[in-house]
Amino acid sequence: MKKIVTVIGARPQFIKAAVLSRIIKENDAVEEVIIHTGQHFDTNMSKIFFDEMMIPKPTYNLEVNSMSHAAMTGQMMEKIEKVLGIEKPDALIVYGDTNSTIAGALAAKKMNIKVVHIEAGLRSFNMKMPEEINRILTDRISDLLSCPSQVAINNLHNEGFQNLPVLIENHGDIMKDAVNYYSQFSANKSSIIKDQKLQKNEFVLATIHRQENTDDEKKLRSIFLGLEEIHKTHTVILPMHPRTKAVLNKLSIHPKIQVIEPVGYYDMLELLKNCSIVITDSGGLQKEAFFNRKQTIVVRDETEWVELVSHGFAKVVGGNTKMILQTFDTFKATNKEFTVDLYGNNVGEKIYQSIYQLIH
Ligand code: UDP
Repeated sequence: MKKIVTVIGARPQFIKAAVLSRIIKENDAVEEVIIHTGQHFDTNMSKIFFDEMMIPKPTYNLEVNSMSHAAMTGQMMEKIEKVLGIEKPDALIVYGDTNSTIAGALAAKKMNIKVVHIEAGLRSFNMKMPEEINRILTDRISDLLSCPSQVAINNLHNEGFQNLPVLIENHGDIMKDAVNYYSQFSANKSSIIKDQKLQKNEFVLATIHRQENTDDEKKLRSIFLGLEEIHKTHTVILPMHPRTKAVLNKLSIHPKIQVIEPVGYYDMLELLKNCSIVITDSGGLQKEAFFNRKQTIVVRDETEWVELVSHGFAKVVGGNTKMILQTFDTFKATNKEFTVDLYGNNVGEKIYQSIYQLIH
């Protein structure tokens, strides 16, 4: 039986890998070995997803975290290389744009192991973002690029990828499968709406964690000022990322909104289903909001999910209090129709078929 190694380490990667791991297991034709790099390690940033989403237990946990980008990437590469020497897989799968993504891809490629990049071709065109650097480099050394959208395919074409010996596929966004599959169970598994005393369609769901916001005090203060202002009339609930918590504590900022610990996926899906509007700097949450027919205020200067913006499902407002409030009022006043299908269907199955062909 052919073998693949999956490298994951950050919360959004656990969610995406849950979909593909289930399909791999059901097909029972390829063996999957999971490496957890340890990049995210808190129980509610990691273990909860493995438990709730029934992701197979990682065979290897590298426990690399809480260090500079170069140190983290280097240590991960060294440890992944050792595992690949033992496991000798036919391909390695990486997701998204974190240090775990580039570390896995680079270690495998140097050992002539085929690399599959899921969520390929996305670009923010902001080379100051660590994620942008990771995704461009990972795309360049991959053998199979699984793109989530036509825009991602176009980005690769604009960079000349059609001239390279790499398979490029528009499979759609694997997160859509995650939302569809786990939404079937979330109402029974989660009691967050009741526990947090939230009124359906009357609260705002917010998440803030991106380094470009947490590392910029002015932006961070402006964003939280906007959230506090909205909270005066509509409850704003924010599951707080550990990085944001650490920075806010350091700056002695205590936002007057409903702050909770990071939540598991079932709770997140119920928050998405029942909220009125999403305010976030997360990549994944922008699409999950769309899949749940909610408009998103993106507190970043750009987004990789530009089709959400061009269709009016999301608006990019940066770290600007006034723009956050204006957009909130506009979104509240519109009854947006969600009839377009932007990100494909049965994505996990399509990705699985392409990987199967790549290694057979
Ligand atoms: N998420 C979650 N609980 C939380 C916050 C986020 O389950 O408390 C999920 C969210 O639904 C999405 C993913 O984590 O699927 C997004 O992760 P994050 O925002 O950390 O990363 P990004 O998508 O920006 O790379």
